[in-house]
Amino acid sequence: MNINILTDQEAAILRETIAASHRIVVCAHKSPDGDAIGSSLGWAGYLRSLGKKVDICVPDMIPDSISWLPGAAGILRYDRQPELVQRAFDEADLVCCVDFSSEGRLDEMDHVLLGCKTQRVIIDHHLAPNLEAKLLVSQPHASSASDLIFRVVWQLGGFPQMDQTWATCIYCGMMTDTGGFTYNSTQPYIYYIICLLLTKNIDKDKIYRNVFNNARIPAVRFRGYLMNEKLQVVEGLHASFYTVTRKELKKYDFIKGDLEGLVNVPLTIKGHKLSISLREDTDIDNRILVSLRSVDDFPCNKMAAEFFNGGGHRNASGGKLHCSIQEAEQIALKAILAYADMLK
Ligand code: 5GP
Repeated sequence: MNINILTDQEAAILRETIAASHRIVVCAHKSPDGDAIGSSLGWAGYLRSLGKKVDICVPDMIPDSISWLPGAAGILRYDRQPELVQRAFDEADLVCCVDFSSEGRLDEMDHVLLGCKTQRVIIDHHLAPNLEAKLLVSQPHASSASDLIFRVVWQLGGFPQMDQTWATCIYCGMMTDTGGFTYNSTQPYIYYIICLLLTKNIDKDKIYRNVFNNARIPAVRFRGYLMNEKLQVVEGLHASFYTVTRKELKKYDFIKGDLEGLVNVPLTIKGHKLSISLREDTDIDNRILVSLRSVDDFPCNKMAAEFFNGGGHRNASGGKLHCSIQEAEQIALKAILAYADMLK
């Protein structure tokens, strides 16, 4: 199976650019998820195998479910080590952006990236890239940035050097961005890549357990409470939403990652098509963080753009509102009703 994605010209540019670089920054988006970290570590693994000095920089905290990945402990966080991140960018002769391709995805770290005049390579699967780059690998149909990293490494001839550690990171990114291969994961090439990764002795069952069976006790109780007490199902429209307030976050001793994936749970209701999570931000007053998940061809990215100042993928999107949680509920309801014809 041909899994190459670069044209010959792109592959030549990338080879030459990497060959001419010694210090490389790999950076990924704020609130990094399994794919952001998996693709960063996978790409860094390849670059290090070529003898490059690589710093991975992210804006903020890596969730606990991902922090066990080999190499994750060495990642620089801008919110903790701004000087080291700035220095890494200053000293780099190549910056690689993975799993994002637009401005605004790095929060405060954005100005470090935008202020850095070093040449840039971008490898991403999100729609509407707007960052400039010497080479932009933008493949919105790919299941994850990690699968793109695998295919680029494969095409550049790096597979023989791939060891179990970066294979684990790449698998983890592919697995998390497809909800454990339950959505956006029907393309045959994905399983061809998995087959190749398994030859590197990754323990796929353990990777799954480490990521998905990793909850803290208060988190399990919190999730139960939200599904039991807060889920509002919109009758007849196969859609639902729930809110999470700061008070509740405090009561259940919330830490980042505790509610990861909860927005998928309402989709286990028979026939359900859309699930929306509305969570009060703990940092900024009156900011509501919105997550949307859908099935089949329901475009929750369109809904996110239209109603929640956001975007994303067809079946997994997000956004933000600047209002009270009560107003956010009304907006969610309005959004669902606006799409009633598709949800019936
Ligand atoms: P999550 O619900 O996990 O926070 O986000 C799901 C997906 O939605 C992300 O992978 C990202 O593609 C997209 N997304 C989340 N927040 C935003 C946002 O504020 N703007 C845009 N354009 N996309 C977002």
